[in-house]
Amino acid sequence: DLPPRVQLTAPSGRKIHLPTGIFIDNTFSPAAEHGSITTPNPTTGKHLARVSAGTKLDVDRAVIAARKAFETTWGRNSTPGRRSAALLKWAELIENNIQELAELESLDNGKPVWAARDVDIVDSVACLRYYAGLADKIEGRTIEQVEGKKLAFTRSEAIGVCGQIIPWNYPIQMFAWKVAPALAAGNTVVIKPAEQTPLSALRLAELSIEAGFPPGVINVVNGLGSTVGESISSHMDIDKVAFTGSTVTGKRIMTSAASSNLKKVSLELGGKSAVVVFESADLKQAANWASMAILFNQGQDCCAGSRLLVQRSVHDELVAMMVENFEAHKMGDPSDVKTFQGPLVSKAQQEKVLGFIQSGLDQGAKRVTRERRVPEGLEDGYFVSPTIFTECEPGMTIVDEEIFGPVLTVQTFEDEAEAIFKANDTIYGLGAGVFSSDASQCMRVTQAIKAGTVWCNNYMALSNAVPFGGMKQSGFGRELGIEGIKEYTQTKAIHWNY
Ligand code: NAD
Repeated sequence: DLPPRVQLTAPSGRKIHLPTGIFIDNTFSPAAEHGSITTPNPTTGKHLARVSAGTKLDVDRAVIAARKAFETTWGRNSTPGRRSAALLKWAELIENNIQELAELESLDNGKPVWAARDVDIVDSVACLRYYAGLADKIEGRTIEQVEGKKLAFTRSEAIGVCGQIIPWNYPIQMFAWKVAPALAAGNTVVIKPAEQTPLSALRLAELSIEAGFPPGVINVVNGLGSTVGESISSHMDIDKVAFTGSTVTGKRIMTSAASSNLKKVSLELGGKSAVVVFESADLKQAANWASMAILFNQGQDCCAGSRLLVQRSVHDELVAMMVENFEAHKMGDPSDVKTFQGPLVSKAQQEKVLGFIQSGLDQGAKRVTRERRVPEGLEDGYFVSPTIFTECEPGMTIVDEEIFGPVLTVQTFEDEAEAIFKANDTIYGLGAGVFSSDASQCMRVTQAIKAGTVWCNNYMALSNAVPFGGMKQSGFGRELGIEGIKEYTQTKAIHWNY
């Protein structure tokens, strides 16, 4: 049977001890039906760990715990100060364990340790602190009523038990983005990590006990989307489901939510973001940002800048700079501080991305990067050579579909109107980048692009204070910022005679 704890050894020699169970009521226990999932190390392809995988029974148990906590120790029965203190303490504990968490995340996901630590976890700690600061700033308003002695006022109340389903590309960061606003506003949560990356959430759960969250406030149920995920989205006693992942799964979740108890839904889905480079841009700067936009996190990013649109006059110059950047990036062992690109998360994802590359070749796109050799000794790791295709056209699979890997398509345009048309020629609307030295052009184009975030002369800047989310089939609802906490409150109006 599954041992209650496992010990992992990171490449640094560090020993990492981890609970394996389902986390309900501040206790780790085996899954009700004793199921488990295994997770490989994407860098080596070898077995990494086995942890409990829940079923509907575990989700039911987690929801009962979350409901009880919402009605007794959290929700209306907690103060903003208490919620804030627990979030701040949790942030401090995560910060104190940052190196261990970064090595764990890298082992499970394949991303470089430095990226997990200095980007994902630093940001996650800041996210917990940002929402700790907003816990006592949730306000209603008063509305004068003209007839007689009447007053109306509103309260922004917590929604209740929130189900949260997260993906594998930023396991710790997505966990923080989801739970921080929900908990700050007084909700309790049942969160399901992705089955490809179940580990870091267990360590975060363990630290949450020490942070002082009462039992039942945070519950973590690892397992498959088809069982645990589906049980969350169709549950009759979950009041809201928040999801980050693919558009296909997002649609399924919305259908389950609608046909069960009509729970509230927020969806942060896929993307096919355009990076638009005009001839007036600082090309070196644009090439650097555009490279980062598709290579960071091995391209496994919902707002990856996966379609480069470049004005024809500067196409050759920009592509040459991009190829140079791609080839300068070190692909290899993610525990090496010089590595920029580690393996993809899973064998399935590697095969999927390699399939897209093959389809690009078959459909007539021109590969302009040379194929990298897999790092020596890591031949079984899930590496994919960073790839640029030029001569791309709409209708090609690599242009139309989200690839979620280090693969960039390049298309050209003649003028601003064509650039805007092509940037918007996608079912998605998550992110976009605009590079131009003409401020009026920047203003016009950033307004015309239908995406939840448009970066101008930079790419992928994120701030906990700035809302993030999609338009079109990239979903709805916003994370981060004041908008992010509003997604976890509902308005009650009170009419009062005096
Ligand atoms: P997915 O959307 O299926 O998985 C994301 C999460 O949803 C996981 O926790 C998964 O277990 C859960 N899930 C799966 N099916 C479910 C269901 N029926 N009900 C409830 N929850 C369910 O993504 P994936 O299969 O891991 O990856 C496939 C593709 O999705 C990727 O290649 C990529 O294109 C895209 N993706 C996008 C994001 C993003 O941040 N937008 C993240 C991960 C994957």
